[in-house]
Amino acid sequence: MYALAVKKSGKVAEFGIWEDGRWAWNVQFRRQLFDWEVEQWEQFHDNFKEFHFCKDFKDEHVWKRETSGNYTTKSFCRYVHVSNENVDRVWNYVWANLAPFRIEVFMWQLLQGKIGVKDELAKRGVNLKNMLQCALCNVIRETCDHLFITCRKSWKVWMGWCRMWGMGWVLPSNVKDLFAMWNEWQLGGKEWNTDQVLELARIRVATWVNAKWPREYPSALNVYRQPTIQCQLPKKGQERKGIQWDKPRYGQMKFNVDGAARGCPRPTGIGGILRDHRGEVKIIFSKPISETDSNFAEMMAIKEAFLIFSVSRWKNNHKLLIESDSSNAVKWIKHPDGAPWRMRKLILQTKKLKREVEGWEIQHVRREAN
Ligand SMILES: [Zn+2]
Repeated sequence: MYALAVKKSGKVAEFGIWEDGRWAWNVQFRRQLFDWEVEQWEQFHDNFKEFHFCKDFKDEHVWKRETSGNYTTKSFCRYVHVSNENVDRVWNYVWANLAPFRIEVFMWQLLQGKIGVKDELAKRGVNLKNMLQCALCNVIRETCDHLFITCRKSWKVWMGWCRMWGMGWVLPSNVKDLFAMWNEWQLGGKEWNTDQVLELARIRVATWVNAKWPREYPSALNVYRQPTIQCQLPKKGQERKGIQWDKPRYGQMKFNVDGAARGCPRPTGIGGILRDHRGEVKIIFSKPISETDSNFAEMMAIKEAFLIFSVSRWKNNHKLLIESDSSNAVKWIKHPDGAPWRMRKLILQTKKLKREVEGWEIQHVRREAN
């Protein structure tokens, strides 16, 4: 790619243009790319396509390990220390207690390259009389990666599995990456799917209320079928004084959101509940997110609320009011420029959604009223 580029060095600004407020990369080559070069170019492009430029923010240096964005030796030491200690995440997936023990052991051996494939046996001095071909296809040398992924016979198994779930997947070429990707994909759940999340939320809320108030909600399934069935919670002896949830105005819907992270970074979830002017519950969502701090979780929850509302049927005839118990998050949504640098990506995503939802408002409420 480098050899073909017309311009081999320069500032980022010289390799693209602004088109309708969006940055478009524009790198010129001496000639048309061949197919295989196009592939290389796309691979290279993948490295930076997730970075979006934005005209609204000033360029500046940022030290990512510190919330202020300023470099400190302390944060550097902390980072170095932690990353040394940081064991490859893939092992957590291996010992996840999901599969039978011997399967986990096998997985562990496989990822270590300690399975008795012919290639490994030969390395250990077993005399195979140069019969190193794969037992399945009898063509390619039998390595772990080949036997479990690239062999056309095992490939078919993977593809069949993907087809069954209606998915397309480009398999990585080694077992460790495959395993990590598969788990990210299956358990990490980054891909947003409104229906799926709604469905999950309904199930979780239903089982939760059933476990929490078994007398009032004897059937989780009924609550799941119709979450609004008994949305008046049972009155408790001591109602909290003076603090209560207010219904939104007529023609307005209110989304109470919450990021469940409290304090230091740890696994978190976000949730929200959308109600109309009668106080009737229209949407409930809850969703796990990866490790983060409470401010970030709150911002995620608000973004989610915007997202859900912007695709809901109330979008065109109702105004949206969001309530959050995080004064920081409320402040940053109102004045994005004051938000810390690490929120920027999120702020930009939310900004897009804000444009979708006309006449939205956000306000801070006490935790007890949220
Ligand atoms: Zn093979």
